[in-house]
Amino acid sequence: MHKPNIFFIIFIIIFLNPCLIKTIHSVEIPFFKERNEMVSSQIEARGVRDKRVLDAMRSVPRDKFVPWPFHRLAYSDEALPIGEGQTISQPYIVALMTSALSLKESDRVLEIGTGSGYQAAILAELTKEVYSIEIKPALAKQAESTLKNLGYKNIKIKIGDGYLGWSENAPFDAIIVTCAPEDIPMNLIKQLKDRGRMVLPLSNGYPQSLILVEKKNGGITQRRISEVMFVPMLHNPK
Ligand code: SAH
Repeated sequence: MHKPNIFFIIFIIIFLNPCLIKTIHSVEIPFFKERNEMVSSQIEARGVRDKRVLDAMRSVPRDKFVPWPFHRLAYSDEALPIGEGQTISQPYIVALMTSALSLKESDRVLEIGTGSGYQAAILAELTKEVYSIEIKPALAKQAESTLKNLGYKNIKIKIGDGYLGWSENAPFDAIIVTCAPEDIPMNLIKQLKDRGRMVLPLSNGYPQSLILVEKKNGGITQRRISEVMFVPMLHNPK
């Protein structure tokens, strides 16, 4: 008797079974729809056009960077608590700051304020090497473990005061500061390459100002990009 072809049976089971197809999709890429929706309605709609940044925002799972039970809110249009009185930034602000840096694949980037590690992951999608400094040891360790679980190999995290920068690995093509100092940290300017860019929130009034600094021939230019609200940059906590 003619035996049914095994490949034909597998084809019938997999491709003609809508329940199975639905299950495969939802198991493979959790929050896929929410992440795409976040990018189109919160980020593109507000004018961020850099395709590489939009792709990175579409691919990094923000839900993995927020503590349970906040993962259900991970794609909402807001900052969320990550413990130790700190927050993961609103997705739009992450995209806005990242695109302001005009990153190239070959860039080496320094981040001040690792927090959850989410911004570091976005940077790591776009550049060769990411260095990130976090002052709170518990957050640094948690971020390191999240990033390792997601397979990132081009991010180095250090526990310390980011106001001082990371001189051993300087100079950097770009620096992003995700906590608000009261003035522009001069050590960070020193650690920028010529033609380097730095984006930072400045706590010089209410609301804070998001500033893009560019270094050229030893001097700097500054441009205000937006109003923002970040946690303060801490110095030498006891
Ligand atoms: N980029 C983060 C969010 C940062 S919240 C993310 O993607 O989740 C700001 C972070 O800056 C907090 O974790 C806070 O502990 C850290 N921070 C504050 N002062 C600092 C300093 N002087 N040096 C390094 N990190 C600092």
